[in-house]
Amino acid sequence: MSAFGSVFMPEMAISWFDGSHWSEREIVSSDSLTLHPGAHVLHYSSTCFEGLKAFRHEDGSVNIFRMDRNVERFAQSSHLLALPEIDKAAVSQMIIDIVKRFASDVPQPPGSMYIRPTHIGTEPAIGKAAVPSVTSCLYILLSPVGDYFAGGDKALRLLVDDSGMRCPPHMGMIKSGGNYAGALRPTMKAKAEYKADQVLFCPGGDVQETGAANFLLIDGNEIITKALDESFLHGVTRDSILTIARDLGMTVSERDLCVDELLERAVRPGCEAALSGTAAVLAPVGTLIHHGKEYAVGNGGIGDTTVRLRTALNNIQWGRAEDSHGWLLKV
Ligand SMILES: *Cc1c(COP(=O)(O)O)cnc(C)c1O
Repeated sequence: MSAFGSVFMPEMAISWFDGSHWSEREIVSSDSLTLHPGAHVLHYSSTCFEGLKAFRHEDGSVNIFRMDRNVERFAQSSHLLALPEIDKAAVSQMIIDIVKRFASDVPQPPGSMYIRPTHIGTEPAIGKAAVPSVTSCLYILLSPVGDYFAGGDKALRLLVDDSGMRCPPHMGMIKSGGNYAGALRPTMKAKAEYKADQVLFCPGGDVQETGAANFLLIDGNEIITKALDESFLHGVTRDSILTIARDLGMTVSERDLCVDELLERAVRPGCEAALSGTAAVLAPVGTLIHHGKEYAVGNGGIGDTTVRLRTALNNIQWGRAEDSHGWLLKV
């Protein structure tokens, strides 16, 4: 199977905002997109995106997971970046249209169809460094993906960085390429120097998240994770896992967690840590690296509760457990 997200369906759904109206939604080739080289996005990073998945069930039906949440967040990202306001109903219909069109290409579990809505500022105006783009383009790409853990489910190594930040605090809730670009060099450095898989950004000692996933500490029956504020991305997977944990009778503590408490608790027997996000659902964390010292989380391997929560969410997504929260939308 090719690398995650490197295969695309040949068509995409698209709509353009001309400064006053959104164009009729269309389905066009996904090979290329014509933009002026002076387009706002190419200079001033007026861009945001989403990531969600559609799943094939045993009865052959195709089901999109929590699309309402992703569309809501897409609208929020667009708003916070001063891009034109999106039409949530129209965007939802674009997602449904394109998924329906390629329904027969949706892989069987553990594969899925990854859906990538994207919104970019298109106005050719390089003088607009401090002014929003009046025009924009919104499109929905599809990429069939296989088993995220095909190469084996291994416990990740995280560099605990208490000096840098992933992004400026007011950009935290925006799913924007700019934030990713900013986290790239610190993550490459952590890989080269510590063989770390990711950086856990903890500015001023406040445990936030990694470059593309939320962080959960699982201590026995309790899950501890940062309470929602504008400094980090509000993951749909985070919310789903916390909901399932509550359903299973676990205690969910959404509160600030500092690096000292994290390191002190993580090494206790039975403690686990995990990263949540749409791609992997829940990825186990086995090692934390802080100021050159390594801390094994619990037994340093893959935690039982992590696997149990991931399986519970996968079972809902794959149609093998009751969708009691109404998270799936059949297309
Ligand atoms: C997308 C993303 C996540 C995970 O969000 P999900 O909705 O669970 O996929 C977490 N952090 C960042 C920075 C992200 O961009």
